[in-house]
Amino acid sequence: MISYSYLKCKDLAQAYDLLDKEEQVYPLAGGTDLLVGMRGGKFTAKLVVDIKELAELKILEENDQGIVIGAAVTLNEIATFKPILDHALVLAEGAHSVGSYPIRNRATLAGNICNASPAADTAAPLFTLNAIVKITGSKGKRTVPINEFFIGPGKNALHKGELVESVLIPRPYPKGAGTYMKASRTGSVDLATVGVAIQRWDDQVQVAVGAVAATPVRAISVEKAINENGEKDFAKAASLARNDISPITDLRGSREYRYHMAEVLIRRGIEKVMEV
Ligand SMILES: Cc1cc2nc3c(=O)[nH]c(=O)nc-3n(C[C@H](O)[C@H](O)[C@H](O)COP(=O)(O)OP(=O)(O)OC[C@H]3O[C@@H](n4cnc5c(N)ncnc54)[C@H](O)[C@@H]3O)c2cc1C
Repeated sequence: MISYSYLKCKDLAQAYDLLDKEEQVYPLAGGTDLLVGMRGGKFTAKLVVDIKELAELKILEENDQGIVIGAAVTLNEIATFKPILDHALVLAEGAHSVGSYPIRNRATLAGNICNASPAADTAAPLFTLNAIVKITGSKGKRTVPINEFFIGPGKNALHKGELVESVLIPRPYPKGAGTYMKASRTGSVDLATVGVAIQRWDDQVQVAVGAVAATPVRAISVEKAINENGEKDFAKAASLARNDISPITDLRGSREYRYHMAEVLIRRGIEKVMEV
């Protein structure tokens, strides 16, 4: 049996004060990674700091800057929020592809990116939307572009005593369609073997892929072929993703299978967003 202390924070300041001073302390949002990880020995926590009821983190709104997704907002809320469905469908689809309905009722976007799994289903969509992570802590606030937030498997850009406060989908929004495509072993309630996000911006595309490198990555070679060189053969463009990814073999799939599926899903995704 694991033993740890639990504290429900009354405000953000208390949360980052504890995160700053205590050792082996973890924020708890939905707990769908943290508690599973603690039981499995991935996290050894002395103190768990519950932030999921903090009003400051429950904001889900559209304002002058864009769409603000507070750190305690659940994936089900994100997948059904009209401004996200209207302007960032790629993220709604990514959020909807996580686990099952009960999991998405607890799981947060912030938890998904803070866990820093290369397979996190909201990560690749956020890459294609140029999302910005708003960080808060006892030393002040700062922002980090989503592509700099992921450092490696299980490693993110947060310093000790910091929390993700929200994620911003900035204006101007993309003009064009977006989609998220996921290959997994079971077709439901499984992590991505490969996850592909495609977002069209007018006649340009942004492509990001998860579970094929130490962090989610942009498929820059594919983007360049289409956006700069005008490649209209999308299968040919998708094949260039091999230059951008470096998958491993694990229990979810072999390296070669991942190369293949990345190519297939990128082609399908581009065809889909170009049609709309
Ligand atoms: C059955 C099952 C199926 C799943 N399927 C999928 C799937 O298909 N795709 C997928 O991507 N994931 C999946 N997951 C993983 C998980 O549900 C997601 O990663 C989820 O979004 C995590 O969010 P959370 O709020 O539960 O995070 P938590 O478990 O509360 O936290 C995760 C980590 O982030 C830290 N953290 C949380 N919030 C903050 C914050 N605001 N600031 C700083 N650190 C913070 C925690 O300390 C912890 O280290 C699955 C999990 C389960 C149990």
